Amino acid sequence: MKQYPKPLAKLIGELSKLPGIGYKTAQRLAFHILSLDDSEANALADSITEAKRDMKYCSVCGNLTDMDPCAICADASRRTDIICVVESPRDVAAMERIRDFNGLYHVLHGVISPMEGIGPEDINLKSLIIRLQKTDVKELIIATNPNIEGEATAMYIARLIKPTGIKVTRIAHGLPVGGDLEYADEVTLLKAVEGRREL
Ligand SMILES: [Zn+2]
Repeated sequence: MKQYPKPLAKLIGELSKLPGIGYKTAQRLAFHILSLDDSEANALADSITEAKRDMKYCSVCGNLTDMDPCAICADASRRTDIICVVESPRDVAAMERIRDFNGLYHVLHGVISPMEGIGPEDINLKSLIIRLQKTDVKELIIATNPNIEGEATAMYIARLIKPTGIKVTRIAHGLPVGGDLEYADEVTLLKAVEGRREL
């Protein structure tokens, strides 16, 4: 195959690094981008630059935000005595979609995975412990994904927190084992939260 000119090859190369984008899709996207008006192409490039520049992690909960603390942590109408622990900011978005949970979040940014050499100190766990010491949290809902690492992480956190007297619950009911919180439909996720059990 004849090689593409350098700028086009570079664009295809960058696009094909994105998750779920193979070389063919990257080619299609690159040709589409080249067909855009300058203003449309610039808007796309600017949105990437701006998102990278303006988005940060909330210093309280670890969620992705453009202000610190994030809109959820800053919302005075939310319950402060219940915290839902999730793996990623995308899981916060999934939980928010069910509109039933009115507490706060804590984003771990990963799970404990001895196989991959990820220990408790490699995820956003220490800040949770410090946070719990400073607040009046009564219940911690652990909503890590229902797979081996998610379960192991939930058990680890439960063992760590239970001696403090805080109730630790785990969503389970309705979510398929090995499934992904992010992709669960709203009813399933709502059932999972409702059916949480104490750890
Ligand atoms: Zn926050």
